[in-house]
Amino acid sequence: MKRIATIAEMKAACRRVTRNGKTLGFVPTMGALHEGHLSLVHASKARCDVTAVSIFVNPLQFGPAEDLNKYPRTMERDTALLEQLGADLLFTPGVEEMYPTGAQTYVLVEGLSDKLDGASRPGHFRGVATVVAKLFEIVRPDFAFFGQKDAAQAAVLRKLVNDLDMDVEVVVCPIVREKDGLAMSSRNAYLTSEQRQQATVLYRSLLRVQAAVDHGERDSAKLIEIGKHVIANEAGAKLDYFAIVDLDTLDPVVDVSHCALVAVAAYVGSTRLIDNVLITASSR
Ligand code: AMP
Repeated sequence: MKRIATIAEMKAACRRVTRNGKTLGFVPTMGALHEGHLSLVHASKARCDVTAVSIFVNPLQFGPAEDLNKYPRTMERDTALLEQLGADLLFTPGVEEMYPTGAQTYVLVEGLSDKLDGASRPGHFRGVATVVAKLFEIVRPDFAFFGQKDAAQAAVLRKLVNDLDMDVEVVVCPIVREKDGLAMSSRNAYLTSEQRQQATVLYRSLLRVQAAVDHGERDSAKLIEIGKHVIANEAGAKLDYFAIVDLDTLDPVVDVSHCALVAVAAYVGSTRLIDNVLITASSR
């Protein structure tokens, strides 16, 4: 695996791949890698000749009161994991490399960026869309792999690629969970052991909603009440949102007769966690 820190070198390495007629897969991350990230690398390796991964803790997607400074950084361990897995290129730019003094261009997917996590984290999806647009221009991958765990992010990025006619296929991979159902996240490292137990409430709330759908309930308002009730019963958790929305527009759906995304965000202590399930015809 080749580790590269400059944009010029990364562009050159990626162009060499595609000029030789090989397919290039790309997995953007913020590091502190876990099985969720690694599943994306596996998916890329299965589908593409060459796999590039980036590790960049993107300051632009953190709000002023958020955890940019304490976000876990485990570069040596991450590098070893990616090497073991057989990633080919690792891009690890510094902040100055990505955002040199004087950079003034941002990418905003209007509307979608204000929904779900975008409503709770103003500016977050502008930061995500800007960094991903830059990374896509640097790497110019054939396929880019993202996790369903960040469902709103996936919707924003699908729209970005579509609206800007980018030549990349966005592949969204399933959520990887711990044995007790907690969605893997770099932020789980913030949780005390008690909070770690409490954090399972997110997935439990989603399972309860899924069970209600399986028993025939279709009314989103009722399903949301069921989900909120589960969160409210966990003293250690504080709800941010519980929503049932269309997977692409992120607009609320009144019933779940068609495919719907059930998404939850909650604070456990000061750690904000998210999770979701997709309710499809086959799950009923
Ligand atoms: P992050 O490093 O948190 O920005 O995540 C990088 C990529 O990994 C994003 O596409 C996430 O959606 C994806 N990801 C994070 N956690 C998981 C998970 N538990 N399962 C699958 N993908 C994940």
